[in-house]
Amino acid sequence: MTRANPEKTTAAVEVTCAFCGGKGRDPFGILSPLATCQVCGGTGRRTLYPPTALCAFCRGTGVHPFSRMTCTTCGGVGTVEIPDDAVTCPCCGGTGRAADYANYIWPDSPLSCDCCGGKGVIAK
Ligand SMILES: [Zn+2]
Ligand SMILES: [Zn+2]
Ligand SMILES: [Zn+2]
Repeated sequence: MTRANPEKTTAAVEVTCAFCGGKGRDPFGILSPLATCQVCGGTGRRTLYPPTALCAFCRGTGVHPFSRMTCTTCGGVGTVEIPDDAVTCPCCGGTGRAADYANYIWPDSPLSCDCCGGKGVIAK
């Protein structure tokens, strides 16, 4: 992954895996009730580099809306890395949801915003 600022020395932070709630197991038991969480590999944690923000698209749940799949924006972590100079995405107003042809932001859209990829913020 390309870092916006490679000289940045900010320490990595550990966040609780939202998809499994830190339990390390597949929350939906699709393969088996004891299946390892595909997001964190069973550790219940994921390492991110700040600044981070709650994923706007899944609202921090890690689950793609209306599915049992991981969120396409945060990969299921529920938290996303954002640019240092992040500003609210003008396309979706920070919701992370795609707007339709009439520019109406559909609150329950299953599609993530094209501009910010669902994070709700973009680099200034
Ligand atoms: Zn997990
Ligand atoms: Zn998400
Ligand atoms: Zn957006």
